[in-house]
Amino acid sequence: MALNTFEKDNIRFMKAAILRAKTAAKHGETPVGCVIVKDGQIISSGRNKRENGKNALYHAEIQAIDKACKKLGGWRLHECDLYVTLEPCAMCAGAIINARIKNVYFGASDTKAGSFGSVINLADLPYNHKPVIHSGLLSEECSYLLSDFFKQLRCHKQMNKSSSEIKALPEQ
Ligand SMILES: [Zn+2]
Repeated sequence: MALNTFEKDNIRFMKAAILRAKTAAKHGETPVGCVIVKDGQIISSGRNKRENGKNALYHAEIQAIDKACKKLGGWRLHECDLYVTLEPCAMCAGAIINARIKNVYFGASDTKAGSFGSVINLADLPYNHKPVIHSGLLSEECSYLLSDFFKQLRCHKQMNKSSSEIKALPEQ
């Protein structure tokens, strides 16, 4: 089935968010990436920087919203759409509502912290703004990024453990 322009654009923007997530992984961060789009153009992006930035606030969405506000010179992002590889947490969902973002597209669901449908759906509560939530865009690709990252992390830990066990062996 041929994709229409709208679907093609959505995939293109999510792929751009995936690229940011891959950059996060390269820096040893949980791979989450985000872009904000206005009038068919990416105006800002963000990626998870929590570990290296040593800061709980450094989520991909917060960074992208911060940059978009600076770029547009205001806090109202009501003409913007946000694409993120992982379902936003409560903090990011709150920031999205506060920024009046119009549409939110996310890839993988987050059963532990997702706040647009998994743990809770903040978009269903009677706040003064309700973003329209579109879940599951390129979800397999987004989920794979995460599972592959954690698999490699476990391998790394296992290797480090084995090498420290070898070092700990008594000399003959
Ligand atoms: Zn978040």
